[in-house]
Amino acid sequence: SERTLVLVKPDGVERGLVGEVISRIEKKGLKLVALEMRNVARAVAEEHYAEHKEKPFFGELLEFITSGQVVAMAVEGTRAIAAFRQLAGGTDPVEKATPGTIRGDYCLETQYNLVHGSDSPESAERELKIWFPEL
Ligand code: ATP
Repeated sequence: SERTLVLVKPDGVERGLVGEVISRIEKKGLKLVALEMRNVARAVAEEHYAEHKEKPFFGELLEFITSGQVVAMAVEGTRAIAAFRQLAGGTDPVEKATPGTIRGDYCLETQYNLVHGSDSPESAERELKIWFPEL
């Protein structure tokens, strides 16, 4: 069993899709071990997205993730990292995410793709420390 960090980003919270995301996580058989709604400080956003520092969309990404409340969750289960990424679908909600996934079903733009999930055991460990240091 492993843990992953899941975020419902400000677009997902704004659009009332928190329940939908949680419902899919639970129905898949993954377990919530921590959950909190919060405003994201700029420093936390920068740390979370540090790997994208040099990307052209980094500024917009920080603006967006700090633009409203986020729901952060620690999710646990067998192959939880890959399992949540399967539920989320690919980063580009039209070209990569397929219908039946969260992004494939509910969004159109890569910038506003509703959810985040850690992409490797190393990222999960790093990100869970940022969002849930107490865990
Ligand atoms: P996340 O890390 O949020 O789960 P991801 O791993 O699917 O997403 P990354 O390539 O790590 O995708 O990009 C991180 C986030 O940056 C994306 O989820 C998206 O919100 C934003 N992003 C990625 N590419 C672009 C782009 N070309 N234009 C605007 N925003 C982008």
